Amino acid sequence: MRRLLLALELRRWRAAGRRPVLWWRDDDAREDTPALRRLIALSVATSAPLTVAAIPDGDREGLAPLLAAAPGVTLVQHGVDHRNRRAEGGSGEFAAETGVEEITEALQTGWARLAILPGAVKAFVPPWNFVHPALPEALSRAGYAAWSAWAERRPAGALARIDAHLDLLRWGGGARFRGEGAFAGRFTRLLAERRQAGDWAAPIGLLTHHLDHDEAAWAFLERFLARRDLDWRGLPDLLAEG
Ligand SMILES: [Zn+2]
Repeated sequence: MRRLLLALELRRWRAAGRRPVLWWRDDDAREDTPALRRLIALSVATSAPLTVAAIPDGDREGLAPLLAAAPGVTLVQHGVDHRNRRAEGGSGEFAAETGVEEITEALQTGWARLAILPGAVKAFVPPWNFVHPALPEALSRAGYAAWSAWAERRPAGALARIDAHLDLLRWGGGARFRGEGAFAGRFTRLLAERRQAGDWAAPIGLLTHHLDHDEAAWAFLERFLARRDLDWRGLPDLLAEG
């Protein structure tokens, strides 16, 4: 049923002469792993541009050759060390009392470790998509070009922000493939929201976590990336369009 509703929604887009704009963000890379190689190979095979959000405390030297061999892959910064410092209300790297100066300094230290890698773009993805109240100001002070969190269609603010919206996985009770029906249901809602707002070009961000994919997730991802009725864009292209 949900797949049928998705097909109907996509028919409305076609009737309007529009193609949904998608971009792809993958979180939690730290080092060269078989799963990361598989992910990058999938991007190359499907020509879907990939943004790898990497945690800066990992093995940079190991990542460099992988990225150099895949020029379509963009590298951005995923947090500073991906450790939870919040006492309550969900996970986040920065405690409530942490100030803008301290956050700015932590961001800069992390970025300095990633900046030399092939495909690096100075953009930031907060772990758990947690937006500390001082984070936008700290990102501006530290000179980031953009950032990405969760679920907003056209986030306001001084700094460009392009979110992810569509999670390949479900997390309760252990990470696993979300399921084709649930994925289609969410995708349909995101498409309908953009169509109804006349905001056809607002990108929809696919979110993956290569270290947590089961085989069902990999198989579905491969089919989804290969769809030719979607307009896959890289993060640098979206930023250049402003
Ligand atoms: Zn993460």
